[in-house]
Parts: sequence; C-alpha cells; structure tokens
Amino acid sequence: ALMITDECINCDVCEPECPNDAITMGLTIYEIDPNKCTECVGHYDVPQCRQVCPVDCIPLHPEHVETHDQLMTKYRALTGKE
Ligand code: SF4
Ligand code: SF4
Repeated sequence: ALMITDECINCDVCEPECPNDAITMGLTIYEIDPNKCTECVGHYDVPQCRQVCPVDCIPLHPEHVETHDQLMTKYRALTGKE
C-alpha cells in the first residue's frame, strides 16, 4: 500500500482518482486505507493518486510492503473479480 505524508496540501485531486475508494480526508490531511490500496494493481499499470499529486507526497507505506501477488489477492477480495 501507499501512504500520504504530511506534505499533503489537501488539493483534493487524488481522492476521485482512486479505483478502490481508499483515499479519504482525515483529521488534517488526506489518508490512504492500507487495507483498500492495491497500489492500483488490477486496475491500472501505475498508481493513479501518485500520477496526479502535485507535491509528490505519496510514497510506499513502509509497514505495508506487499508483493504483486499479495496486491492482486487484495484486488480480488475487494472487487470480487478474477
Ligand atoms: Fe488508490 Fe491506487 Fe492510490 Fe492505492 S495507489 S490509494 S489504490 S489510487
Ligand atoms: Fe494531498 Fe497529493 Fe492528494 Fe493533493 S494529490 S490531496 S497533495 S495527497
């Protein structure tokens, strides 16, 4: 999963781009639910939030490092698709 750092400027552009609805407004900045973020695996070739973020504040979550297979399994569980 990816994460949003405190460099986030709350520009709102990433939230509608997430195919898993993993991005929501938190207490002060936007947050990514690591249980819903597949790094866009299953949907797109590259993480859509990272593509649009103007301040490049969406790195890999160090406590949620996953393999492509694990991300694909999460995608299937979230979407019910094969
Ligand atoms: Fe959503 Fe994809 Fe960003 Fe994860 S990488 S938060 S799935 S847009
Ligand atoms: Fe924050 Fe980047 Fe999302 Fe804008 S695109 S709300 S700066 S994480």
